[in-house]
Amino acid sequence: MKYKRLGKILYHIAYSTNYANFTKPTSITFDVTDRCLLHCKTCYKWLSKDANNEIDTSSWKEIIYSLKQWLENYRVCISGGELFLRDDIFDIISFARKHNVYVTAISNGYHIDSTLAEKVIASGLNGISITLNGITPGVHDFTRGMEGSYEKAIQAIDLLNKSKKNMFVCIGTVLMGYNQNEIIDLIKFVKERHVDGITFQALHDTSTFHPFDHNDYFHAEGEWYKTHPLWPKDTHGMLSVIDKIAEYKKKGYPIGNSFISLQWMKRYFQDPKEILKTKCMVGMNNFSVDPYGKVRLCFNMNPIGNILSQRPEQLWTNEKALQQRRAIKTCKNTCRILMCNFDK
Ligand code: SF4
Ligand code: SF4
Repeated sequence: MKYKRLGKILYHIAYSTNYANFTKPTSITFDVTDRCLLHCKTCYKWLSKDANNEIDTSSWKEIIYSLKQWLENYRVCISGGELFLRDDIFDIISFARKHNVYVTAISNGYHIDSTLAEKVIASGLNGISITLNGITPGVHDFTRGMEGSYEKAIQAIDLLNKSKKNMFVCIGTVLMGYNQNEIIDLIKFVKERHVDGITFQALHDTSTFHPFDHNDYFHAEGEWYKTHPLWPKDTHGMLSVIDKIAEYKKKGYPIGNSFISLQWMKRYFQDPKEILKTKCMVGMNNFSVDPYGKVRLCFNMNPIGNILSQRPEQLWTNEKALQQRRAIKTCKNTCRILMCNFDK
């Protein structure tokens, strides 16, 4: 208890001073590819077709090992793009598991047939989140830009859920105007199919990615939500959906969002700028490695360096990281609402 409090104090000192030398990141992510077959309306990654410069299996193993030496016991979330487009993904996952790293994955489920589901289980993966944006093909397929993606996602959830042993299987859903009327049915689906949980992310605009210039100077994103086609037009309806999510959570349905984050989501959908009152903690929490070995604190900013040429602990405390922690504190972007960035 005493150590936990001390950790929290150090964390806040690090945030105020921008010096993170006495803290370590808690949210490690590996985006192992930018490639993806789907064309989601909430993502830009599928525009990348370039697999040539992706780092190879042995480099990922070196990264896993160097993080192990620095962080000892750590958790990593592997994502993309779509991670299952990499032929060596099970080799990477199994290597991490052999070194006692807790590994979870985020997938669109599109490639998970019975053979791949068996490989997922055999790899020792600790948990997987499949994105499902609606309970009908029309809604899910529209948001994912691919006909048939709903059937594939449901198949993936069922196959994994049927044969999972110690692995958890959950659903991730982007909350937006286009699917707000299907959210409660999705929550019921989770319970009926004995899925381990569902977590909601509020819609954020993809066209505002990379709002920082090469000096990490922030360029205002404007009021993107006013013209965004997926932003809820029926604000009142969205607020009552979020209230219902909280009610189902109180009843014991496995909803991953905290009550406080649901409250902030309501404020965000009422007035997106309201969210700027919360701190963005990515400078203290995040250590994201992209398919080319570049490391970022904030996914919108330039890399702080490349893990293939520098030790992770050096990257964490280098001049670029210090400069970016200053920029993060003055950032006026609303993507702090995203679960991985949120401070509450
Ligand atoms: S499935 Fe994921 S990576 Fe692929 S386009 Fe959609 S959000 Fe992006
Ligand atoms: S709110 Fe946070 S995650 Fe979003 S751009 Fe700003 S610093 Fe980055």
